[in-house]
Amino acid sequence: MDGNAPEPRYWEKMRLVAEVLKAVEGPIYIATHVDPDGDAIGSSLGLYRALKALGKEAYWVADPPRFLRFLPKEEEYSDPVEKLPPGATLVALDSAEPSRVVGVPVEGFVINIDHHGTNPRFGHLHVVDPSKAATAQMVKDLIDLLGVEWTAEIATPVLTGILTDTGNFRFANTTPEVLRVAAELLGYGVKLAELTDRLQFRPPSYFRLMGQVLSTVAFHFGGLLVTAHLPEEAGAEEDSDDFVGLIRYVEGSVVSVFLRKREEGVKVSIRSRGGVSAQNIALKLGGGGHVPAAGATLKGLDLDQAYERVLEAVREELTRAGYL
Ligand code: 5GP
Ligand code: MN
Repeated sequence: MDGNAPEPRYWEKMRLVAEVLKAVEGPIYIATHVDPDGDAIGSSLGLYRALKALGKEAYWVADPPRFLRFLPKEEEYSDPVEKLPPGATLVALDSAEPSRVVGVPVEGFVINIDHHGTNPRFGHLHVVDPSKAATAQMVKDLIDLLGVEWTAEIATPVLTGILTDTGNFRFANTTPEVLRVAAELLGYGVKLAELTDRLQFRPPSYFRLMGQVLSTVAFHFGGLLVTAHLPEEAGAEEDSDDFVGLIRYVEGSVVSVFLRKREEGVKVSIRSRGGVSAQNIALKLGGGGHVPAAGATLKGLDLDQAYERVLEAVREELTRAGYL
């Protein structure tokens, strides 16, 4: 997919974003994607704090999930907004599609900063660079260009985004540049051990849920695909964010899919390795994301129907990649 190529005009575009944000006098709304992860929350909170440090009228519209709620102070995040005031600027971060932006309408002067190859490059200004490990890595560059003085308060959420999207520097997106940026951020006073420890905290119910989820593990295509789902009676949807990260390590597997039934349909999280593209699978299911990590929501389906669609899409991708 062409969309996965690096942005050749990255610095030129980012410089323009910085100039625009410095010049803005009206309100600046910062928003991110539905089901926000560490990069969504980290990149948006980092930029919010930097813009506040610049003296801007900034609002961070977000609903951080429980495991990330230790990062912001409660007064830092705003409730959803139905209509933006005239003259408003909206910065959408880590949002692969305008429809994934949550809490604000996508209107006003729209700036789209993201690293998903499937991003349609929406907005009046967009910097979409799939070669970046995290949107937070891009926000690091933007904050440098804004000329804001780095503090531990700004560096901590930014490093959080990089940590979570690289799986604590384990995934293929961990480039030398990522480690250099992380080292620099550490130098601003981030307490790394405390932060990584805190990011793994989950409520007791999560660990009970893990047992139920693991009892649904199934293998397909001779073990190339591993699946699991949230049992419908289990509830506790909020705590189910990273189970796909658990099942992806089954020996011999190249794709893992975690399914959870929601009101609107079934949300699937897909991870892949070995030349198999989770992105291709997600696109077939109407979603998107990165090559090794992607997702989709199968609207109006029940779990059994969703499993059927997933197996079909994975079969096609395994065939394309030469496994079947
Ligand atoms: P997760 O499985 O953790 O929800 O998402 C994995 C990656 O795919 C994330 O980068 C996320 O933003 C993206 N993603 C998840 N669901 C969707 C979707 O429905 N549409 C698109 N375009 N991207 C998605
Ligand atoms: Mn991201």
